[in-house]
Amino acid sequence: MTVSGTTLRAGVVGWPVGHSLSPALHGYWISEHGLDATYEPFAVRPEAFASTLPALALQGVCGVNITLPHKEAAFQLVDERDEAAEATGAVNTVVFASGRMLGRNTDVFGFVESLREVGVNGVQSAAVLGAGGAARAIVFGLLSLGVQRVSVVNRTLEKANALRAFFGDKVIARDWPGLGAELPSCDMLVNTTSLGMSGQPELMVDLTALDRRAVVADIVYRPLETRLLAQARARGHTTIDGLGMLMHQARLGFAAWFGVEPQVTPTLKAHLVSILEGRG
Ligand code: NAP
Repeated sequence: MTVSGTTLRAGVVGWPVGHSLSPALHGYWISEHGLDATYEPFAVRPEAFASTLPALALQGVCGVNITLPHKEAAFQLVDERDEAAEATGAVNTVVFASGRMLGRNTDVFGFVESLREVGVNGVQSAAVLGAGGAARAIVFGLLSLGVQRVSVVNRTLEKANALRAFFGDKVIARDWPGLGAELPSCDMLVNTTSLGMSGQPELMVDLTALDRRAVVADIVYRPLETRLLAQARARGHTTIDGLGMLMHQARLGFAAWFGVEPQVTPTLKAHLVSILEGRG
C-alpha cells in the first residue's frame, strides 16, 4: 500500500517480533475497512525500549501493542494505566494521545470475550495453571466475571502465593502436586503456562477427576490444538483455544488508534489459522 503523510500508523513492539501474529491480524482489519493505515512490527532491544516508545509517538505513530519482553517496562513508562494494567502489572497496548502515553492491558478483555464467544457463563470455581503475566490477566478476568474460587497452580509456589496476596482470598495457591485435589470441584481449567507451546515441553495433566461439564481453555495458540485441548475434546469437554483471546484483545487497540470497531469473525480466524499452519 502507499504510505502518505496522512496514513495512520500503529504497530507492535517486541524483541524478537518476527513471530507476532499481530501484523496479520491488524492488517486484515485495515484491508477489510479500507483504511489509510499501517500496522508495523518494531523490533526493539530491551535497552532501547525506554527511548524508543516516546520516539514512536513523536514520529506520529498513533499507538502500539507491546509484546515480550517489554510489557513490564511499558507499565513503568506510560503516563496513565487502566484498571486491568494496574491489576496485572503489565501494559500490552499503548495509545499516544495529546502528548501522553496511555497504557492498557487488553488481555483481560480478550480472555473474557473469548469465553463469551462460546457462551461460557456461571463459572463458580476455576483452576488456573501458571502464575506468570498471562495468569494475572486471567485471574483478574475470572474474578471480574464473579468466579468465587480460583486455584492458581504453579511450579513455583511463591508466585502463586503472590497472586493470592494481590487478589485476595478467593484465590488459592497450589503447587503442581496440589492440582489433583482441585480438579474435582472445578468447572473450568485454564492453562496459562508456556507448556504445550511449540518448542516447549508438553503439559501433562490427568483430567480423569475433572467433571465432563467443565470447560477447558488453553491460551497457547501455537499449536492451536494443544495436547491438553485434544485430551479434553476427546473426553467431551467444551474447549477454548488461545486464538480467541488473541483476536479479541486486539479489538481495543484497533478501535482506539483507527476509530473503527473491528469484528472477530470465522473468516478472520481461518486467515490466522492458515498463517499458523504455514498456508497463509
Ligand atoms: P510467563 O510470565 O513467563 O509465565 C510462564 C508460566 O509458565 C509460569 O507460571 C511458569 O512457572 C510456567 N512454566 C514455564 N515452564 C514451565 C515448566 N517447564 N514446568 C512448569 N511450569 C512452567 O509467560 P506469560 O506471559 O504468562 O505467557 C504464558 C503463555 O501464555 C505463553 O505461551 C504465551 O504465548 C501465552 N499467551 C497467550 C496469549 C493469547 O492471547 N492467547 C496472551 C498472553 C500470553 P514458574 O513460575 O514456576 O516459572
